[in-house]
Amino acid sequence: MTAGVSKPVVIAGGGFGGLYTALALASKRHHPPILLIEPGERFLFLPLLYELLSGELRSWEICPRYDALLAGRGVAWLRDRVTAVDANSHQVHTASGRSLQFSQLVLATGGGNETFGVPGAQEHGLFFRTLADVERLNQLVETLRQRRGAQQRIAIVGAGPSGVELACKLADLLAGAATVALIEQGPTALPQARAFNREQALAALQRRNVRLHTAMAVQAVEAGQLRLAGGQTLAVDATIWTAGLRLQPPPISPAAASDRRGRLWVSPELRLLHSADIYAVGDVAALAPQASDQDGDDALQPLPTTAQVAFQQADCLANNLMHAAAGEPQEPFQFQDLGEMLSLGIGEASLTGQGLTLAGKPAFLLRRLAYLARLPGRPHQLKVAAGWLADWGR
Ligand SMILES: Cc1cc2nc3c(=O)[nH]c(=O)nc-3n(C[C@H](O)[C@H](O)[C@H](O)COP(=O)(O)OP(=O)(O)OC[C@H]3O[C@@H](n4cnc5c(N)ncnc54)[C@H](O)[C@@H]3O)c2cc1C
Repeated sequence: MTAGVSKPVVIAGGGFGGLYTALALASKRHHPPILLIEPGERFLFLPLLYELLSGELRSWEICPRYDALLAGRGVAWLRDRVTAVDANSHQVHTASGRSLQFSQLVLATGGGNETFGVPGAQEHGLFFRTLADVERLNQLVETLRQRRGAQQRIAIVGAGPSGVELACKLADLLAGAATVALIEQGPTALPQARAFNREQALAALQRRNVRLHTAMAVQAVEAGQLRLAGGQTLAVDATIWTAGLRLQPPPISPAAASDRRGRLWVSPELRLLHSADIYAVGDVAALAPQASDQDGDDALQPLPTTAQVAFQQADCLANNLMHAAAGEPQEPFQFQDLGEMLSLGIGEASLTGQGLTLAGKPAFLLRRLAYLARLPGRPHQLKVAAGWLADWGR
């Protein structure tokens, strides 16, 4: 940094937590310099990744480039990866060998795929988290549709929201060219979902002939088959792994406290424990137990690892960064549950929340509008809205 220029607020990770913190902070008058460090070229609006796979949305809509999003917004973007944090010297180190000073640091590095050490899952499994994953799944659908064998089958491991939503979209795209098996080690699909959404999801899976296998643990993923608990095997043409989220923030020195999943403990103001200047938001952050929580870790109702939590935290954190710079007291984060939405196949969805329960096409349209309002930055929202209006006019 040049002498005389104040040190920036550095934000590591340009997902829902990091990018939205950067944009919210940049919208404040007299905001400090902001540096976003993010290795990807494009922001990914993950809740709409299913619609990218199915071709219902286009990549420029849900994966805008950071340079376009941030142009003229007062946020500098460094395409790099934070590899270590030195809390004492207020520096981050990056993969390209840079060492950068920060006034305040926000860790928002999100999560990756967790395969729980299941043999073969990394080597033979496909995933659903990146643009490259979407590409690979599109190729798989294409291959299976061309081959159209009677015995073709794909397996999706994990019947949480990602597994269920993906199963519905893939079944629609495959249009009978292969069967879809959804494998869950727990007793039910969508264990955390609202009852209405779960019922709608189970009905949507059934309509598409998706075979749901519950209480079935995958012990190994091999080329052409899954090994299941109890010595069974299941022949598959492909396995898509959606179970699990690996949380691995960059190492911090001195070490920061975290929960057993690796999420960093934060105070209600979203600051790391025992730190004045380092914050964490999104999947990588967990509210630390308070002294009044008798049973520690287990007494907490942890915040879900969702985009909804991350972008609400971003607003709170942008305020707190301004308060901190002004020496004012900070606000505690308060999560407001805005409800739950599921994409359930092409043109279908289900949603519950704010006194509303809705399924089918109306839910699909409302879900899209709700997410339109959440796309990053007003100029991008308007561009996408204009594109949708033009499509409807055709
Ligand atoms: C397929 C899918 C569908 C989903 N659907 C929904 C949904 O419908 N509703 C919902 O609320 N949530 C949904 N989620 C969850 C939601 O997307 C996450 O909870 C949310 O993205 C978390 O935001 P985040 O900022 O913590 O992490 P992310 O959005 O994952 O962003 C993390 C960013 O950090 C970057 N990064 C990683 N390591 C480093 C590093 N060392 N240095 C710098 N940058 C780094 C990454 O490149 C990434 O851009 C879905 C997730 C997936 C995968």
